Amino acid sequence: MTAILGGGLGGLSTGYYLLKNNINNNSNLKLFLLEATNYCGGWIKTIRTKDYLFEQGPRTIRPKGTTGLNTLNMIQDLGLSEHIAPIKPDHPAAKNRMIYVRNNLHILPSSLISVFQKNQPFSKPLIYALFNDIKSPYKEMEDDSIYNFVERRFGKEIADYAISPMICGICAGDAKQISVKFLMKTLFEWEQNHGGVVKGLMKSMFNSKSAGDLELSELAKRAQEEKWNVYTIKGGLETFPDTLHNYLVENNVTVKLNSQVEEIEFVDSSSVALKNNNGITLTANHVYASIPAYSLAKLVEKQHPVLAESLYEIPFVTVAIVNLYFDTTENLIKPAFGFLVPPIENCPILGVVFDSCCIPDQNGTVLTVMLGGKWFEEKFGANPPENMLMEIALAEIRKILKIKESPTASNVNILKKCIPQYVIGHYERVDRIREYIQVNNLPISLVGCSYDGVGINDVIFSAKTQVEDSPCVFHDKPT
Ligand SMILES: Cc1cc2nc3c(=O)[nH]c(=O)nc-3n(C[C@H](O)[C@H](O)[C@H](O)COP(=O)(O)OP(=O)(O)OC[C@H]3O[C@@H](n4cnc5c(N)ncnc54)[C@H](O)[C@@H]3O)c2cc1C
Repeated sequence: MTAILGGGLGGLSTGYYLLKNNINNNSNLKLFLLEATNYCGGWIKTIRTKDYLFEQGPRTIRPKGTTGLNTLNMIQDLGLSEHIAPIKPDHPAAKNRMIYVRNNLHILPSSLISVFQKNQPFSKPLIYALFNDIKSPYKEMEDDSIYNFVERRFGKEIADYAISPMICGICAGDAKQISVKFLMKTLFEWEQNHGGVVKGLMKSMFNSKSAGDLELSELAKRAQEEKWNVYTIKGGLETFPDTLHNYLVENNVTVKLNSQVEEIEFVDSSSVALKNNNGITLTANHVYASIPAYSLAKLVEKQHPVLAESLYEIPFVTVAIVNLYFDTTENLIKPAFGFLVPPIENCPILGVVFDSCCIPDQNGTVLTVMLGGKWFEEKFGANPPENMLMEIALAEIRKILKIKESPTASNVNILKKCIPQYVIGHYERVDRIREYIQVNNLPISLVGCSYDGVGINDVIFSAKTQVEDSPCVFHDKPT
């Protein structure tokens, strides 16, 4: 028997790929998924009404690169192609991404021509950043913060106004602490191997990019041809884990909700006991743990304190999400994806997504304000009341977007320790953790957002890789 720990997108995707491999290998796989709460989907949660849709966690998925195309393959296979709502390059949400600097909203350059023009808040055209890279000396290092790297190669303004807010948008983190390998591994390697980003780019120009040996579905091909920027799912992103959950159940996976695992005991290299909150112990040949690293640390601590210590070292941040609905036919916002606030502005919010511009079928204006992240406790204390966060969010959108109306409906959600931070040394730490597991012959694979990427595509691709890399699918008897 094989067990999956956690029913977020990581756990559900693991189930999906185990089933696919099972069919290919003609093995008789018995699969259990154990989820602590009463639903599957983890941070993906949607509130739907006839007028508006509030996403409480993620809302858009990127279609690009191998991981993005792989997700589209899965979506088509699940029969969800018709539910996809793409944002194409000519859509205002693709063209207009803004930052809030010195009391003004500025559209970030998105076309080639704009790179040669001076765009506020940058003091020079962005092309100067490339000259900076060519003339700057290189520094030999194992890893660096993404902020330091960008400041060294492209200048302080790019680090402050482009990269720092982008890191807030992706992982609610501080670019001064996040590893350069998180987003710019290739650029960092170019610097380390060729002395600079432009130099590395020139040398790699003739290496054609491909999606590896991934076979593309019709949906993935369409996304490439139509150059989708991002996409959402009609009716809310929750449709995605719901469909995966149903797929697992239809294929005889036993999904146990309200089943919080409280201890893991490794018996030998092909036997592991999982004790849950109902006093039930389940024995499996192999376990795929998709729960956050700090939760897994607690479960293995007794038997493997060294492993637990490394798992605890992966930090997580708390984010507050304030969803707002304004029932009005008046245009309260300019069409755009939304805006982010660079940390240097010291503003109480991280940014605002203009949901009514990005997500179809909304009557009125829908906004999501994100607060906290790396600065949650420093700005709001350990346990701020929800109404305080609502007041702060409303005050900021009144000031920045000049919205005078009061929302018709709203929702506040505090997502405790929801996003892992890939701080300097993260990738080496994850290698050490996996090496410990291998050396000690522990029948466990690690999936989910703690290890191989924080976005939806990364989590799905990590599940695929871990399933393909682990020998457990062959443990169960062939039919
Ligand atoms: C506010 C926010 C916005 C985001 N926006 C985007 C976006 O727009 N695009 C994008 O690509 N990504 C986005 N992400 C990231 C994306 O949501 C995550 O990558 C993904 O949901 C993580 O899935 P997971 O399965 O790894 O973890 P989780 O969703 O955390 O799932 C883990 C599951 O394990 C369960 N669990 C924990 N402990 C136990 C236990 N002991 N026993 C049993 N079960 C347990 C939990 O209840 C949970 O269901 C966002 C994330 C957040 C928080």
